[in-house]
Order: sequence, then structure tokens, then C-alpha cells
Amino acid sequence: MSVVVVGAGLAGLTAATDLAASGVEVTVLEARERVGGRTHGIEVAPGVWVDAGAAYLGDRHTALTALLAELDLKTTPTTMTGASRFALGGAGQTRAGRFPPLSAVALGELFDALDELDRGVRADAPWLSAGAAQLDALTAAEWAREHLRHPDARLFFPLFLGEMMAADPADVSVLHMAFYLRSGGGIRYLNAFAGGAQEDRIDGGAHQVCRRLAAALGDRVRLGEPVRAIHQDGDGVTVVAATGSVRAQAAVVAVPPTLADAIDHRPVLPAPRSGERTAPGCAVKVHLVYPTPAWREQGLSGWSVNARRPLLSTVDDSPADGEVGVLTGFVTGREAHRYAALPAAEQREQAVAQAARLFPGLPEPIGCHVTDWVHERYSRGCYAALFGPGDWPRLGPRLTAPHRRVHWAGTETSTEFFGLMEGAIRSGHRVAAEISATYRWRDIHD
Ligand SMILES: Cc1cc2nc3c(=O)[nH]c(=O)nc-3n(C[C@H](O)[C@H](O)[C@H](O)COP(=O)(O)OP(=O)(O)OC[C@H]3O[C@@H](n4cnc5c(N)ncnc54)[C@H](O)[C@@H]3O)c2cc1C
Repeated sequence: MSVVVVGAGLAGLTAATDLAASGVEVTVLEARERVGGRTHGIEVAPGVWVDAGAAYLGDRHTALTALLAELDLKTTPTTMTGASRFALGGAGQTRAGRFPPLSAVALGELFDALDELDRGVRADAPWLSAGAAQLDALTAAEWAREHLRHPDARLFFPLFLGEMMAADPADVSVLHMAFYLRSGGGIRYLNAFAGGAQEDRIDGGAHQVCRRLAAALGDRVRLGEPVRAIHQDGDGVTVVAATGSVRAQAAVVAVPPTLADAIDHRPVLPAPRSGERTAPGCAVKVHLVYPTPAWREQGLSGWSVNARRPLLSTVDDSPADGEVGVLTGFVTGREAHRYAALPAAEQREQAVAQAARLFPGLPEPIGCHVTDWVHERYSRGCYAALFGPGDWPRLGPRLTAPHRRVHWAGTETSTEFFGLMEGAIRSGHRVAAEISATYRWRDIHD
């Protein structure tokens, strides 16, 4: 049995590892000159690596945790000790804990309303949820205009969605937002650091997971091979990449749905797996590096939430030994497009100035690293693809249904922890099992 895997992110490499372990001859074709996809490490000081892509995980991310143990990778708790900073209009404020200086009643009502949406949606098939058509017809922005009366709830909602999903409320349907919350374990789990989805990060960076998986697969993984076409016939698939074609009995396509649709499939796909309203998500991650995590000396955690941009939020991603201070800033939603279009010097100036307003007394940074996912050609989903009105009912049933010998993986095919590293890994295990079951059955019966 032979299989070509398209994409060397977490999903593709998990699938390839499982398939290789069961004796399948595997070839992985990766477009970039590196593995990891939306996990990506950058060295910001000698020996200090930070996550320019995915970073955080929690205890319910059991497939990722098991993989980390297999690969001998350790985690460190995300630093959250100290007070938070908020710039939500007017002067900046410092508060103990993470609750913003806004009406507790208004935010309580907002979270109750989101909880109710989350409880009402079916994670395994959101388009079959009761009232799916109504939820699918509205964008999250329209829902907020209709349902959120209090100005504090209206102010906080887009910040919450920008932080949680790198989404602009106008880009996602209410059905997708509710599904995302449900799939990720609910709003409280997704939003939490201690005990939640952001509890830990991987020592030395999340990119090491793919690097180690790829190292074990050896020369089965080929870099710089963007796949242009997949042609099928009665016996197998011919996968056309940059330096030639690879023939196999089946293919796994482990790339975001808009990129999978851009491949020339013959026979053509019965219907696309992304739609006109499917948005790529929009995130820019900024790492400001200081000689020390100086905010800690003032009793601050480094966490901030901001209505004034560019940085929607900041978090302390310094190495455990505090050798240098690393403040990570997130720019998401519409602002990510504006910020990504600025010259590098202006990006740096705006981020440094905002950090200095938030954490007075900070010295000049010794480094500023901007990772623009908006223009990443091979990642049309950052953090993950965003489904707009009309998408789930049309696309949902097609996300995982094989197209003859072409099988699908990727975090966007996972109904559990959609959009997260955990979803990507689960999709890789799922597709490997699907292939084993499908072709073993065929071998016996053909
Ligand atoms: C800024 C950012 C922050 C995030 N934060 C978190 C977080 O804290 N926690 C978390 O769990 N998740 C987070 N995520 C999401 C997480 O990174 C993704 O869910 C996960 O990495 C997706 O893995 P994947 O294998 O499905 O897809 P990808 O990682 O996108 O892998 C797809 C691979 O396919 C390749 N490819 C694309 N097209 C082709 C082609 N035509 N031919 C060959 N190869 C191709 C790509 O180069 C890529 O390597 C974040 C993502 C981003 C961008």
C-alpha cells in the first residue's frame, strides 16, 4: 500500500507517521522549505525560541499531550502571575486578575448568551443543530447588534472574538462561532489560562513537534514541493508537484480547505470544500524582546487587553529562566490587514510605543519580530479558516467525505478542537485509520 500525503503540518505528519508505522509506503510533499505549517519557531535571542504560530495547549488536548510524551517534549506553564493591564478607552488601568474593568453584569450576560449558543449546537454536525438555518444566516457582528444592549458588552465582544478566533465578527456566522466554542470545550475552557486551553506552552517551541516527526520519517518528507494537481484513475493517484509526480494508491490532503480546492483535481471535486464566505482568518504575531521581563518587577503579568490598536492583547512568553523578556502581541481581525500592510519600521514603532504605554518604564526592546500570517501563501487559515453564513450547511458534509482515493485531514476537518493543534493531530489519526480500514477492506474483497 502506498500513500502520498500533501502538507507537512501537524495533521499531515501525524497521518504519515501512523501510516508508516502500519507498513504503508508514505511520501509527504510539502510546499514550503520547512515543515510545521501553522506551527513555526523563531530564535529571538541565542537559544531562545518563541512561537510565531501556535503556542498554547491545555489538559484536554490529549492527542497533543500524548504526542509530546512520545517525542520527549516538555511543557512550561504560561506566565500569568501579577496584575493585568487594560486600555479599553480613556486612561489605561491596572487590575488584579484577568477580568476587565467593565460592567460585570454586562459581561456576565454576554458570556451567558455565548454559553447558550454553544450548548445549542451539535459539534459533530453543526449544520444539523436545532435552529441551524437561523444561526447560519447571521454574522456574529449582526448577532451582536441585535443581542448586545450594554455598551461594555458591545465593546468587549469583538475583542473577545479577535483574541479567541482571530476573527472579525463580520467574517463568521453565528453558527460557526457557536460551533468553535463547543468544539474547543466551551467558552470558559477556551478563554482560560490556568486550567484552560492556554495553560501551557511547549519548551523550546511548538514547531519542534513537526520537526521531530519529520526527522523520524526521514527522506519520505520532501520540501519545496507545492502540489498543483491530483489525477485519479482506477488504480491510484498521480500527484503532481514542483519537481515531478508521485504515483500512489491513495492521497491524503492535509491543507486548509481553500488551498485544497486550489489543487487541480481530476476527476473534479463534486463540490468545493470552501465557499465565497470562507475567510482565511487574520493574525499577525509580534514578539518584543527586552533585556529582562521588566513588567514583572512592577507586579504585572504582561497580560493586557486593548481597544486601541495595533496590539489587541499581550502575554508574557519569556523563557522560564527569565534570561530575556519576551512580550508577545496579537494583532487580529481587520486591524491585522491594516498593520500587515505597514512598512516594517512603522510596525515596530507602533508596537513598541503601545507596549511602552501599557508597561511604563520598559527599556527599548533589543528585538522586534513581526510574523504576518495574513500574507502566508500556504496558510489560508490563521488561526484557522473562518466559516461565514452559508458555509456550514454546504461545506460541513464534504469536509471529511473522501473524493474517491483522495482523503482529507487538517484542523478544519476536525469537529473536536477545530482550529487548534489538537484538532489537527486528531484529524491525522482519523484519516490514517480511515485509509487502513478502506484499503484493507478493498484488499480482502477485490
Ligand atoms: C498565529 C497563530 C496562533 C495560533 N495559536 C494556536 C494556539 O495557541 N494553540 C493551538 O492549539 N493552535 C493555535 N493555532 C492554530 C494551529 O496552528 C493550527 O490549528 C494547526 O497548526 C493546523 O495544522 P494543520 O496540519 O491542520 O495545517 P497546517 O499547519 O496549515 O499545515 C498544512 C501544511 O500544508 C502545506 N501546504 C499548503 N498547500 C500545499 C500544497 N498545495 N502542496 C503541498 N503543501 C501544501 C503548508 O505549507 C503546511 O505546511 C494558531 C495558528 C496561528 C497561525
